[in-house]
Amino acid sequence: MPDSPPSSLDWTTRLVELDTTSRDTNLPLIEVVEAELKRLGIDSTRLPNADGSKANLVATLPAHDGSTSGGVVLSGHTDVVPVDGQAWSSQPFTPEVRDGRLYGRGTADMKSFIGVVLALLPRYAAARLSEPVHLALSYDEEVGCLGAVDIAEHFRARAVQEGGALPRACIVGEPTSMRVIPAHKSINLVDLVFHGKAAHSSLTPQGVNAVEYAARAITFIRDLADQRRAEGPFDEAYVVPHTTASVNVVQGGIAGNTVADRCHVQFEFRTVGADDPQEVLDRIEEHVRGLEREMQAEDPSARVEMTPVALVPGLDTAADSPAIAFATGLGGIPSTDKVTYGTEAGLFDAVGIPTVVCGPGDIAQAHSPDEFVELAQVEACEQFLTRLLEQLTTQDPTTEETR
Ligand SMILES: [Zn+2]
Repeated sequence: MPDSPPSSLDWTTRLVELDTTSRDTNLPLIEVVEAELKRLGIDSTRLPNADGSKANLVATLPAHDGSTSGGVVLSGHTDVVPVDGQAWSSQPFTPEVRDGRLYGRGTADMKSFIGVVLALLPRYAAARLSEPVHLALSYDEEVGCLGAVDIAEHFRARAVQEGGALPRACIVGEPTSMRVIPAHKSINLVDLVFHGKAAHSSLTPQGVNAVEYAARAITFIRDLADQRRAEGPFDEAYVVPHTTASVNVVQGGIAGNTVADRCHVQFEFRTVGADDPQEVLDRIEEHVRGLEREMQAEDPSARVEMTPVALVPGLDTAADSPAIAFATGLGGIPSTDKVTYGTEAGLFDAVGIPTVVCGPGDIAQAHSPDEFVELAQVEACEQFLTRLLEQLTTQDPTTEETR
């Protein structure tokens, strides 16, 4: 029988107390985890962002034979969404247990998962592991899975350099109520900036109207969305069973009597597995470049900038993937649901690491005021990761040696 579950609440509380809202640094949290890893004799590596204000942290607990090839990744993001303007019943960064729940920003999304990992870490560090366990903590997940791009690349590059295998499974501990979620849509957020030419509105032929060209791009994106809605491809496992696209930000023009020389449009689209996000992006870009040519025919200085803000690949893990059998074998609840939110899972999957999403808490509480995690969920996660530890330490030594 497993030991009584370790109390991970101390760790989760410590993590929640460190305000890691995405706009701010996450380094204080990274330092705390780094120190704990060091205390346990585990090397870790920071993968900083461009200006050094944030960092991912990756660490590998090698197998008992020293191997770091293959193994299992436990992945979580360190950042949380803002609490600005939200009415909280208690201090969001001072976690509080009430009615069998832990309240606080990030308790569900997703510091409880990281807290459970850290609470169990001493036991993992002391264990005779049959294969390595990798820890992957990212920054800036909430603003478009920016940090995890480097983590996925880190694993890919290391497998190539060391001639080893990629991890055989990755568990992203986002709140799924401990269900094993195999799929989510891709999320793609893109900026368009139309640079036209200003003129007095009585002299329209002398200007290039950035707002009007932007409007044509907007209707094109809406038409594309309508076409997907009518014709698919469809995947009925999603609440909205088709690719969606929408324009949700437009800023342009300075006065009613001035031809607008600039218009900023931000659009996003989310694809089902059967729809290639690059193809959607290419189609929009082709249209935009056509508009740009028309603008330049009016004035050669006109141009359109198209800049991806975040491109988060979708996840579409097959039902017979070993990662699903693996996670359900640890006590994750089998599920065929495909979720509406994006995660870092698609990034790991894209480099060839079979990945599922499975973690404590309900996504319904994520991002809201009075965010909480049920303590029963935390216990279920503790059991899940305790089973993982047991599975990685109780293998028959003979099969282990011939592996
Ligand atoms: Zn999250």
